This record gives sequence, structure tokens and C-alpha cells, in this order.
Amino acid sequence: MGIKLLYILGAIAALAYLWEVFISSTTTTVFVIVIFALLTLYNIWNEDRILRLILEDDLIAKRSSFWDWQKIYQLVQSKTKVWRQETLKSETQYDKFLQAIQASPNGLIMLDEVDHIEWCNQMCRSHFRLEPNRDVRQPVTYLLRYPSFIDYMNKADFNKTLNLEGMGIKGDLNLLLQVFPYGENKKLLLSQDVTLFRKNEAMRQDFVANVSHELRTPLTVLNGFLETISELKLSKGEERKYINLMSLQSKRMLTLVEELLMLTRLDSSPEASLNTIVKTNDLIIRLVDDAKNLSLGRHHFQILITSTNNIVGEENEIFSAFSNLITNAVRYTPEGGTITLKWADILEKDATQFSVTDTGIGIAEEHIPRITERFYRVDRSRSRDTGGTGLGLAIVKHVASRHEGQLEVKSALAVGSTFSLTFPKGRLVPGITLEINEG
Ligand code: ADP
Repeated sequence: MGIKLLYILGAIAALAYLWEVFISSTTTTVFVIVIFALLTLYNIWNEDRILRLILEDDLIAKRSSFWDWQKIYQLVQSKTKVWRQETLKSETQYDKFLQAIQASPNGLIMLDEVDHIEWCNQMCRSHFRLEPNRDVRQPVTYLLRYPSFIDYMNKADFNKTLNLEGMGIKGDLNLLLQVFPYGENKKLLLSQDVTLFRKNEAMRQDFVANVSHELRTPLTVLNGFLETISELKLSKGEERKYINLMSLQSKRMLTLVEELLMLTRLDSSPEASLNTIVKTNDLIIRLVDDAKNLSLGRHHFQILITSTNNIVGEENEIFSAFSNLITNAVRYTPEGGTITLKWADILEKDATQFSVTDTGIGIAEEHIPRITERFYRVDRSRSRDTGGTGLGLAIVKHVASRHEGQLEVKSALAVGSTFSLTFPKGRLVPGITLEINEG
């Protein structure tokens, strides 16, 4: 533009000179000077305007002008539009990327060349109590002052991971940390919550130890009896006695294995069938007969069946859950006690409940939250003496949750206990009218 204008001005000046020399006219000279001055002013004004527009970041609106300036404005406008669109696109992409990182269940800290925090995601709040806005530009070892972490950063062997316990806002998190170097001496620090994983690992180890222990006891007893029988000369009566004791121990092992298999089956499928109906009244009546056989007349039974509802689900599971509750009531209620079984609608909950109430030894309050844990027993020897495995209530709880039901325990020491299983409407279908009130 500038060069073009100079050519034009040069041409005008040359024409003016020729005019001056050959025709000579003061008016023409004045005219040329005025044109020159106007053009210069017009250029200066446009230059100034474009500078101001750049400074004010106002290049997108349409500006009218003449000649090359018009082209410049149009070019600047269209280029700015494209540039703005590209900026917006990359900003949206960046926002999406940040949102994705924020949604990550892992904590992420970006560190600069001297291990100062450049950026961290929201998860770092719950993992390290970091404030993403407040803590940027701070040295990471100043904010995470755990000796093992400082040591990890100093050793800089980042192929290894670091485990930090007692982390989080409540100090109950177990975190796995690893640093990943990137770019020019920058680092990405990743933290993963492994609390549940570690808990499961510990539970699995406990479980294996418990199963081995439970099996070892009857096996040791069996082994002892076998040695006695093979090494000593015994009378027929004594032999029968030992065989009976051995049979008791092997039955105990069989029950344990059966219950373990039941738990494995329950673990492997999340929900019970919605296609089969368990005739609940019939099932309870069958179970009462079994309970009376186990009680051998030592307890008084009360049966109150007032609901005709049937459960939708797995018959063998419901049988096992109800049977465990009734068997426990018999086992933990001394002679002369009363055991009450109920199957009744709970109108306010829109549900039906199976409950077993006994007048037995009861459970101290502190044990109640733990009795559904696998192998947890209040009194280990009493449980064993009555043929318990410590798995019964774990099965009951599992069956309840697979049928969308809830297990509730109310108990008082030396007064008795009530175990109830409540099933929601969605797991019930009405059956034939039958009311049993026996006691
Ligand atoms: P177990 O085979 O030992 O009975 P359970 O899982 O069925 O295992 O029960 C866990 C523990 O809960 C029992 O060891 C016992 O201490 C306690 N318990 C269960 N039912 C009763 C009950 N009806 N009365 C008193 N204590 C009970």
C-alpha cells in the first residue's frame, strides 16, 4: 500500500512538475499539494484506527474505507474471525480435557522443573487436602510432608510406587502414588485410592486363614481318633463311640464346605431370580418341623403366619436363610425358652417380614454390628459346641440383599433376640389365603 501510494504521489508530483515547467499554473500546484496532504492524512488516520482496533481487540466488526484500506479491513476481519473460531475450538477442547481430568477418580498433580505444583485436580482435595487454587506454585514436598514421600522424591526412582496410609480428610484412605516424568524435567504425580482393594486383600487373607483354621480342628481330632483306633485294641463299644465322634467331626467339615460353597455361589451372582415363586408359608411350616426335631422338645414354639404373600426368588437361598435364623434361635436358647416365628405384612413399609424371636442368651450391643461378618462369633466355643461354622448370618445377609431385603437384629443380653428379614413389595406376590396361629 505504502509503495503503491508513493508511486501515485510520485506520478502526481512528476505531472505537477511537467505542468509547472510547460504550462505553469499556481492553482495546479496548490491542487496537487492539497491532494497529497489529504492522502497523507487519510493514511495516517487509517493507520491510527487499525492500531487502536488491534489494541482494543475490536477487529471483527465491519469497517468501511476506500481503496487498499478497504481490502486491509476485510482481510483483518476475516482472518480475525477464523482465528477467533480456532481459539474457541481449542478453548473448548481444553475445557473438555480439564473436565475429563477432573472427573478422574485419581488425584493428578503437575509439577514443574523444581517440583513446584503447577496444577492439580479436585481429587487432590480429598486425597491430600490440597486446594487447587491456593496451593499452586508451592513446593510439593512442603505440602505433602510425609517422610516416605520426601524420601521417594529425593531418590527419584519413579519406576517404583509409593503406598501412603492414613490419608484423606478423615485419615482413612490408603493411597498408591507414582510419579511419571514428562516434557523437560516436568513430572506428573498420580494418586490412586486403593483403600477398598487393600481391605479386600486383607479380608481374603483372613478368610483363607479362617477356613484353614476351621478345617484343621476337626481334621486334627479325626486324625487322633484314627490313630487311637488303629493303634489300640478297643472293645466294640469303645470303637462305636470313636466312630460316632469321627462322624460328628466329618459332618462338621461337610457343613463348613457346604456353607462355603453356598457363599461362593451367592458371591458370583448379584441378584436372585425374578421368575420363580417361593411358597413361603409352606416353606416356614417345613422349617418348623426341622426346628422341632433339632430342639428335641426343649423349646416352646409359636408360629404366627398372617401374610399370604410369597417371595419371588431362589427357594434354596430363602430356605437356607430362614433355616439359619431358626437353627440359631434353637442353638442359643436354653431349655424351656420360647421361639416365635412370624410371617406378617408391614403396611407402613409396604413389605412383608419374616422374624424369629427367641428368649435366649442374647447378644451384647457391641457385637451386633459384626455378627454378620464371615467367621465372627461372640462365643467361639459355644458356637462350635452347637455345630456352628460362623458363616450362617453371613449367608442370611447375603441372601437378603440378593432379594432386595433387609436383615435387622435386635437383642438384649439374657433377654433374647429378634432377627427379622423384610422383603419389599417388588419381591412379593400374593398367594392363597392361609392363616396359621399356633402356639
Ligand atoms: P454360628 O455358626 O457361630 O452360629 P452365625 O453366623 O450363625 O454363626 O452367628 C454368628 C454369631 O452370632 C454366633 O456365633 C453367635 O454368637 C451370635 N448369634 C447368632 N444368632 C444368635 C441368637 N439367636 N442368639 C444369640 N446369639 C446369636
